[in-house]
Amino acid sequence: MTALDLVTLLSQAIYVVIFFLVLWRYVRAPTPAHLDMTIFFGILGFIVVESRVAGLLGVTQPAWFTDLIVAAVIALPYVLLRLVDDFTVVRAGIKGVAALIGLGLAAIYAYLEAPYPVAWTLATVGYIAALSLYCGIAFVRAGRHAEGVTRRRLQAISFGTILFAVEVLMAGSAGQFQDPEKTILNATGQVLGLLSAVAFFLGFSPPAFLRRAWQAPELRDFLQRAASLPRLPTTLDIVRELERGAAAATGSRAQIALWQEDDRKLRVWTPGSNAPLDIEAGQHFAGRAFEQQRTIFSSHPVRDDPQGADVYRKGRVGAVIAAPITAGERRLGALVLSAERPPIFALADGELSQLLADQAAVILESRALIDHAAKVRAREEATRLKEDFLSAAAHDLKTPLTTVVAQAQFLERKAMRDPSAPSDLLGLQRIVREGQRLAALVTDLLDAARMEQGRLVSDREPVDLGALVSEVCSRQHASPHECELDVRGAIVGNYDRKRIEQLLDNLVENAKKYSPEATPIRVEVWQHDGEARISVHDQGIGIPPTDLPKIFERFSRGSNVDDRKFHGMGLGLYICRGIVEEHGGRIWAESEIGKGSTFHVALPLGEGRRLN
Ligand code: ADP
Repeated sequence: MTALDLVTLLSQAIYVVIFFLVLWRYVRAPTPAHLDMTIFFGILGFIVVESRVAGLLGVTQPAWFTDLIVAAVIALPYVLLRLVDDFTVVRAGIKGVAALIGLGLAAIYAYLEAPYPVAWTLATVGYIAALSLYCGIAFVRAGRHAEGVTRRRLQAISFGTILFAVEVLMAGSAGQFQDPEKTILNATGQVLGLLSAVAFFLGFSPPAFLRRAWQAPELRDFLQRAASLPRLPTTLDIVRELERGAAAATGSRAQIALWQEDDRKLRVWTPGSNAPLDIEAGQHFAGRAFEQQRTIFSSHPVRDDPQGADVYRKGRVGAVIAAPITAGERRLGALVLSAERPPIFALADGELSQLLADQAAVILESRALIDHAAKVRAREEATRLKEDFLSAAAHDLKTPLTTVVAQAQFLERKAMRDPSAPSDLLGLQRIVREGQRLAALVTDLLDAARMEQGRLVSDREPVDLGALVSEVCSRQHASPHECELDVRGAIVGNYDRKRIEQLLDNLVENAKKYSPEATPIRVEVWQHDGEARISVHDQGIGIPPTDLPKIFERFSRGSNVDDRKFHGMGLGLYICRGIVEEHGGRIWAESEIGKGSTFHVALPLGEGRRLN
């Protein structure tokens, strides 16, 4: 056996192998493209095997059989043209003319006796080579528009088809030459034939390792973006990003349906519409892939899912691949890829979509874990707050209550021992004072609860802040602190008078509470940039810088505050913040430890005005 014989044998063996592989693929996914691949390699394989068997047995074929083989060879480029048509549009005119010429040639061959006239042989070779070349170029073009593995496979096929055309041209015309040109043409034709067979093999039936290598760049892109996805603000953001990634990796439209455990339905967020769409398990392709836990492929969505026919027609959906998104035992949803035409390599695309769906599962699962952890944290926080609240409330209510009860019992015993004794005014005053403190604490608790619902502020009326501040200050004459007032003009805004009074009371009370006796409190009211501004300044203990950002939070108290010396629950400033914010304003504090604090309030003036 010469080297050239070996080359021929190899390329012929490859054609037969490809035939069986594409036949198997057609059985698994009977798409038009798979059928045409099977016919193409079926013809090639048949011619090869038949000529080998005939050569081995030394039989001469009957004339009709030779005619049949010639017709099959003439049909080859036409099958290629159909394959091109399976995934791009070939103009009907071209298909028609190609078919007519092919039929004409085959018919004439049936009438002719071998040896055939040279002109006919050359015309036939020309027809096969030209049409194959046309298909080769069409494959190149389609490859440019495709993505990922499909792109690389189409490149291999286009290479194989163009080599096939050149091979036909060389082998077909070799007979018209004398040696050595004849041998050179034959030999080159055979080598090209082997190269074309290898290119076809890689394109039509690439081994798994090559497919994976070809998928790698798209998957890498997808995975690179995927790493940060679980941290996106909402699950919907993640779904949108996953859809974008899957669309980029496959070159088709991508949609994710997520399983909603509460409703026991799949939910799809259609782009451009905010209202999600619910799908039952088993309904449409997403529901089926989800229920059956396998990748579903359809090259006839209108026929295979009549319920969604309108949507497919309107969206010009000609093919659908749906893959289940599942993390271990947890069924999370389905990834649906759709395109106008069936993909040329349906199984490879199915494989890729399953890979993407698996990635999506990992991402969605980590998101679910993050959500779960956040929920647990929030629950712990809520429990902690409740515990804080209970201990703070119990502690703060207990002290005045114990005083009230003890004082009352003391007065009771005294009255029983000597009913005619004059009443103990100091003791009674103590009961009243502690009772009032108790009432104030309960009011704070109620206000804090109201604030949670944003219901602190109710009826508004024009309020002159300057006048209100002087009222609050003048109420403090029994206090050892002097209240210095600086009101620059009468500033009137539309506020809830009682709440603003409560705010000022709170700030002034705090200033006094946290300052050494006899130090003055300074309250200023002015207007700045269309806002009413109030500041309350003291020369007290100050607030540690680390506590400053937190003091407006619920139950928050400065770490420099001794509970036994300064009673309080850490609700006052929290309520102040609620009052100010419900009025549309801001509150903040500046402080230096040991030197004093200034609390600032800015309230919108709105309909208010400044009276000079
Ligand atoms: P309470 O006074 O009941 O603790 P507040 O919410 O009114 O609750 O205040 C929260 C914390 O802010 C106080 O515990 C204290 O540490 C700090 N604080 C508030 N006002 C002042 C002030 N004028 N000077 C120093 N610290 C203050």
